Amino acid sequence: MKLHLVSVLIILTSCALIRAEQPNILWLFCDDMAVNGISAYDSRFSDMKITPNIDRIAEEGVRFERCYVSNSVCAPSRATLLTGKHSHKNGKYGNIEPYNHDQMQFQKLIGQGGYQSAIIGKTHLPGSIQGFDYWETLPGHGLYENPAFITAEGKVRFEGHSSDVIADRALNWYNTKRDPEKPFILMVHFKAPHRDWTPAPRFVEAFKEASFPEPDTLFDNYATRERAAAHAMGIGAHMKIGSDLKADHWPHRSYLLDENLKGEALVRAKYQAYMRDYFACVAGVDENVGRLVQQLKDDGLYDNTIVMFSSDQGFYLGEHGWFDKRWMYEESFRTPFVAKWKGVIEPSTVNEDLAQNIDFAPTFLDIAGVAAPEDMQGESLVPLFGGQTPDDWRTSLYYHYYMEGHGTTRHEGVSDGNYKFIRFYGRKTKGEDVFELYDLNKDPAEMNNVYGNPEMAGKLAKMKAELALLRDYYDVPDEEVVMMKREKKEKSK
Ligand code: CA
Repeated sequence: MKLHLVSVLIILTSCALIRAEQPNILWLFCDDMAVNGISAYDSRFSDMKITPNIDRIAEEGVRFERCYVSNSVCAPSRATLLTGKHSHKNGKYGNIEPYNHDQMQFQKLIGQGGYQSAIIGKTHLPGSIQGFDYWETLPGHGLYENPAFITAEGKVRFEGHSSDVIADRALNWYNTKRDPEKPFILMVHFKAPHRDWTPAPRFVEAFKEASFPEPDTLFDNYATRERAAAHAMGIGAHMKIGSDLKADHWPHRSYLLDENLKGEALVRAKYQAYMRDYFACVAGVDENVGRLVQQLKDDGLYDNTIVMFSSDQGFYLGEHGWFDKRWMYEESFRTPFVAKWKGVIEPSTVNEDLAQNIDFAPTFLDIAGVAAPEDMQGESLVPLFGGQTPDDWRTSLYYHYYMEGHGTTRHEGVSDGNYKFIRFYGRKTKGEDVFELYDLNKDPAEMNNVYGNPEMAGKLAKMKAELALLRDYYDVPDEEVVMMKREKKEKSK
């Protein structure tokens, strides 16, 4: 009996120790954050040091070079974040249709690991969010200036710029509502830098005269890719001088209204204005990332908090002449992901494994010590954090975009990091299958579609087989079935 009591005491003590060591999770999430817009990703803009606080997460931890999304658009990406599933499994194919909040999502399970959960900011999922202990969410896209939030007490509006207010509200939860006895996951979801890229006034001033290098592909003519890629969200044709670039209400932008500004000169001028606003928004996010991190440091919680930063997808910063997202081409298929976890992630490491946003939900659960449901399709990234990539880690990625519009069209594809095969089948290709194949090592900018090149026949067959294999593995229904389901859902709205 005595011995038994001792064992119980040991068990109780070790449980208490394990609980005390459970790390907190600060999840920082952007909307439309280009991978190349973050200096840690060593790119065109790295000399400008616009993202020192995000870069520091990578310096103290890991930068995932090959993190991708499953469907590159706002709401579906957020559904995948919470469910750990591809769109055809969580039912959120596009931005319009309802979202089934009743389904299993990681936040409904993480409490089993003793965690308290809070989400603040943009979720872009219509209806009432479920499973979080605390939430304050933007209705739809929310506003950049003086945003309103949906809360358990109703709609509440706060004064200030969206990024500042979202960080303020996150700190309000952290300081006044958090249970300090429990580990937490705090998800801070910024609206920025989503279109129309409205920065806080202090950043408008800071970026007024900034000059940005142009991408090599700003004047892409889409040769070999015109049936799908041409006439998409171009800076020249589709970016609006008024509502997007604010020429109608910012006096310092009135130069864009000059009728003599045309052709390539106009595209160049619009590109510079776009970059200034975009990065002024990014700088505002970065400053608020710094505020949140500083609060953890002030409270002595920083070392025991895993800090992760990501985005709902990547974005075009003039590559191929574009802004926006949606495509399976690298700039929007890829998403930034950096994470620091003291004692687990070696500082300044770079991970080259194929990660995908289906992996985030299982990762959160793994950190909390909760088993992920078997039907979650992603894998925990925790072994990768520790530099222990499993031998059977995925070697290819499945992608499927279901929406129409913004000059894009429905498509699915597979990438193994070396080659990418895409099948376009939507309205823009008049329902016909149009294929593209890229050699990503020789042609990282994806300018040369080699589908149809006889020398690539072997590789093409291999990639087609890989796509079929992934469709089977992820249990993807025929697109006709998918579209019927979507139309039914939209009608039921
Ligand atoms: Ca987005």
